[in-house]
Amino acid sequence: MSSLTSKLLNPNLKTLTPYESARRLFSGGTDWLNANESPFCNELEVEVTAYNRYPDCQPQGLIDAYANYAQVKADNVLATRGADEGIELLIRTFCEYNKDSILICPPTYGMYKISAQTSGINTVEVPLKEDFSLDIEGIKAIDKVNIVFLCSPNNPTGTLLDKNDITQLLTHFADSALVVLDEAYVEFSPQQNWATLLETFPNLVVLRTLSKAFALAGLRCGFTLANPAIIQSLLKTIAPYPISAPVAQIAQKALSVEGVALMREQVNYLAEEQTRVRHILSNKAGFSLKGGTEANFILFQYTYRTQLMQYLVANGMLIRDQSKQCGLTDCLRMTIGSREQNDRFLLLIDNYLNDSGEVA
Ligand SMILES: *Cc1c(COP(=O)(O)O)cnc(C)c1O
Repeated sequence: MSSLTSKLLNPNLKTLTPYESARRLFSGGTDWLNANESPFCNELEVEVTAYNRYPDCQPQGLIDAYANYAQVKADNVLATRGADEGIELLIRTFCEYNKDSILICPPTYGMYKISAQTSGINTVEVPLKEDFSLDIEGIKAIDKVNIVFLCSPNNPTGTLLDKNDITQLLTHFADSALVVLDEAYVEFSPQQNWATLLETFPNLVVLRTLSKAFALAGLRCGFTLANPAIIQSLLKTIAPYPISAPVAQIAQKALSVEGVALMREQVNYLAEEQTRVRHILSNKAGFSLKGGTEANFILFQYTYRTQLMQYLVANGMLIRDQSKQCGLTDCLRMTIGSREQNDRFLLLIDNYLNDSGEVA
């Protein structure tokens, strides 16, 4: 690094490694089962013809469409560049630089901590218990945090958090902290839906995205759902034109009656594939399934995970190593792809086992 950049670099960033997104880690490959994307490439044509005007900060048609889909009011909805921007806005809006803290429960999604670090905010970690449930006593023992990030269904465990546990935390932090429930995978597990409880819990925030079940990761469109006072505060921090005109149009189309019906069909397909792949994988020598089925991926443990990963990468099959996360020794995460991709994944594992003679 040049002496000028190292002299000027924000001290909070000196030790930071940027988020190792699946796309940053591996750029090649033929089968991308490493970022929980959808295998479906839906056609969504746009009618935007004029680009000379700035878009609305919060395009009304898009806000209304998501409010209708999530069954909340329009003033409960903030549209962002992916759920990731929602995470960052919450931290920048509700935490004070070099003073405040957020709380996370690993193993979980990596961006909460990275966003906190880049914003000069401390992260307190209270790991999930061995069965991936919340350590309620451990969380309650933490003195002062401004935001509690919970992920349910959780990435990368595919498990739901217990409803009563979440309620307890919402009550415990009622006067001191926001409780953010990241529901990026809610469409794969519709039995819980916290968006309908915003009026009951004024400190509840729900994060949503079009990147997973809606098959629009490339669009960069997510939503933060909360009470109007929280949404109004976030509007102080958000960029003036975060949602480009074509993004708003495409997202609105995806949220139409036909768009939602297509999404549900595709979610069913992925659920069937998940059941099938889990069954086959669990019967392979040395492989053990971890976590749950509430999202679009499978977490599994395999002792020779490094060798297996290398073999898969060499054959263009990309999955994600989760073994650095607490409690996930030797764990890998495979996103459910198309039937053909899943079969190729399973075939490569058989080939690997035959070639290497390794079992655990
Ligand atoms: C993928 C993911 C996100 C990010 O979604 P974007 O809308 O693509 O930014 C947020 N939270 C979790 C838990 C995720 O898995």
